[in-house]
Amino acid sequence: MSQNTADRVCITLPKTRIMDIIQNTKNILADLPAKVSLVAAVKTQSVEAVQEAIQGGVTIVGHNYIQEAQAMKPHVTGKTKWHFIGHLQTNKAKQAVELFDMIQTVDSTRLAKALNNQAQKMRKKIDVLIEINSGREPQKDGIMPENAINVIEQIAPWDFIRIKGLMTMGPWLDDPEDYRPYFKLTKELFEKIKKSDIPNVEMKYLSMGMTDSYKVAIEEGANMVRIGTSIFGTRR
Ligand SMILES: *Cc1c(COP(=O)(O)O)cnc(C)c1O
Repeated sequence: MSQNTADRVCITLPKTRIMDIIQNTKNILADLPAKVSLVAAVKTQSVEAVQEAIQGGVTIVGHNYIQEAQAMKPHVTGKTKWHFIGHLQTNKAKQAVELFDMIQTVDSTRLAKALNNQAQKMRKKIDVLIEINSGREPQKDGIMPENAINVIEQIAPWDFIRIKGLMTMGPWLDDPEDYRPYFKLTKELFEKIKKSDIPNVEMKYLSMGMTDSYKVAIEEGANMVRIGTSIFGTRR
């Protein structure tokens, strides 16, 4: 690891900010129904900030970037799971399988194949969620809802990848209430896939909702929420 990277991930926080992160985390956890898992979205945060979130009760760390996660992970202590929540390029599949317990953003059979191949080499089974483009936005990542079952049926037989559920972002919207149709659609798809009983596919996790939208997402059936701003404050 370069000196620069080490410097970048070890920024010291003022004491007040640390107290906030612990308390913010506790408040959110107290607010979540018991069956809902919290993923702390840690992009741009320091090791120290992440450590405080863990002290506050975070057990799943979500990162968007491979290189930053690589630099951060060795410095973070505690029994945490690591989930990849950013856009994953096929050529980073190896590092992704090495670093993460779950890839939440599988958005093509090509990426799934690359993950399966790397996992096979490492003799590790990698858990994944299928990312759904619930807003059907051409510029956004994710599988179109109408193609989801077909894509899942292609991936399911591969031995080193395990489909564990769905993830969605939805379009960028100002009013949290406006997210509801996209969350509803993804939940309906989740139930439909569950009923399809595809071998090797477990519809266990439905990851949707962020700081502004997680309450609506939970009302619509999310059992995993990804939260950054409410824990760490506004990103610089
Ligand atoms: C940053 C991020 C989040 C958290 O967003 P906040 O609005 O800061 O809570 C959730 N999911 C993904 C994929 C993200 O990149």
